[in-house]
Amino acid sequence: MSVDSRAPALFDLTGKIAIVTGGNGGIGLGMAKGLAEAGAAIVVAARDAAKSEAAVKELIALGAEAAFIAVDVTDAGSCRVLIEATVARFGKLDILVNNAGINIRKVPENYSAEEWHRVLDINLTGSFLCSQAAYPALCKAGGGKIVNIGSMMSIFGAAFAVPYAASKGGVVQLTKALATAWAKDNIQVNAVLPGWIDTDLTREARRQMAGMHERIEARTPARRWGKARDMAGVAVFLSAPASDFITGATITVDGGYSVQG
Ligand code: NDP
Repeated sequence: MSVDSRAPALFDLTGKIAIVTGGNGGIGLGMAKGLAEAGAAIVVAARDAAKSEAAVKELIALGAEAAFIAVDVTDAGSCRVLIEATVARFGKLDILVNNAGINIRKVPENYSAEEWHRVLDINLTGSFLCSQAAYPALCKAGGGKIVNIGSMMSIFGAAFAVPYAASKGGVVQLTKALATAWAKDNIQVNAVLPGWIDTDLTREARRQMAGMHERIEARTPARRWGKARDMAGVAVFLSAPASDFITGATITVDGGYSVQG
């Protein structure tokens, strides 16, 4: 059987345009670097301009085209402007990584309604609004990829992070629902559930909770925290032709945390 020389290389993203929300640090930048190394041009979409420009420099140093475009993912108009500005700058859109996220840690009885909404608005509604805004551009490109970021708290309960867990459970269902809606448009929508990754977000958690670092390390079969770099491969896989028949799936990247008995 001969190999079709016209078939796209499984993991090649040359010529692809990717937006990574929250791409200016942590998991988002780890994923953006993976996409950049595979050949994609990257839009770092976040609020903090100085942090984002620094991330853009790191991506350019890898040989990629990259730009910062400001967005607040809780604002539908801002999400639409992000997509318009991306298409104006790079000509199209192929990949959207919905990574922006926050956590507010408290016992459930102490959250204000505003805190509950803040977490849900950024983590869940933000992923929906960016996906909705991206849809026409992805269709115009002939299809594309959406990668949503869940969490171990998409699976497990979390006494100290109730709105976060609710939002991340919602991200998995959002992923499945969008996948079923947009498969006809050749848009694959999948979710990544990271384990415990060393970032600003979890550094803050470790400051708040004594002994957390050691507890996580001991419970993770790989016996270590994840690094932002550990998130690069899955981002490439779910953005590349290699995953063209995978949609609505969730992939854990957790050093075995979620399968430990
Ligand atoms: P960081 O705090 O390093 O990154 C969060 C990013 O979200 C920042 O880049 C921030 O940029 C951006 N962001 C926050 N609010 C908004 C907003 N309203 N609009 C646009 N961007 C926003 O955390 P992580 O890298 O750890 O987290 C990234 C994702 O991974 C999150 O969804 C998180 O829930 C998830 N995750 C993290 C895990 C971990 O162990 N670290 C485990 C499981 C999931 P700026 O402030 O400039 O807007």
